[in-house]
Amino acid sequence: MALVEEQEAAPHLHVVQGGGGVDLEAAERAVADLLVALGRDPSDEHLVETPRRVAAAYAELLTPTPFRATTFPNDEGYDELVVARDVAFSSLCEHHLLPFSGVAHLGYLPGERIVGLSKLARVVEHVARDLQVQERLTEQLADWLERELQPKGVGVVVEAEHLCMSLRGVRASGSRTVTSAVRGLLRSDGRSRAEFFALTGVHR
Ligand code: ZN
Repeated sequence: MALVEEQEAAPHLHVVQGGGGVDLEAAERAVADLLVALGRDPSDEHLVETPRRVAAAYAELLTPTPFRATTFPNDEGYDELVVARDVAFSSLCEHHLLPFSGVAHLGYLPGERIVGLSKLARVVEHVARDLQVQERLTEQLADWLERELQPKGVGVVVEAEHLCMSLRGVRASGSRTVTSAVRGLLRSDGRSRAEFFALTGVHR
């Protein structure tokens, strides 16, 4: 995961750009080869467009949209927990190239800077558009909040269903994987931590 950032002028703008790097033609050839390997005929009229469609779908899923993460100085000294709940996302499991999707809850105890809540949704989308594992996605969200906001505490909870689990193997349909990352006061202070998990609706 490469977050390329360019520092710009105040009020503290970061342009976050995606890695992309998908070679569409190579991906199309590979999908055609995969069809052959699966015993299918890629020249079949029903499949002839499939390599192009699959390559385009992967390119879209793996190319994050650049966005401006505008943060502001916390001039009012706001010091209560801020939580954005149920930010929906979809990502691709790097072990099976199958989707996993769910929601992220992001919280922080403001310190130096605050951020518009809509930006938190953009950060989730940005980080999700990659070959991922849920644990890393969770840590990357916590890292981003820590780095951009220099808050007193950070909490991230991600709940997701993995198609690689629900479609195959143990076929645990409907089972959700929950991961969390807590930093700063949300880790060390029991009350803040409990408040955060209560607000996310996740009890642990
Ligand atoms: Zn998987």
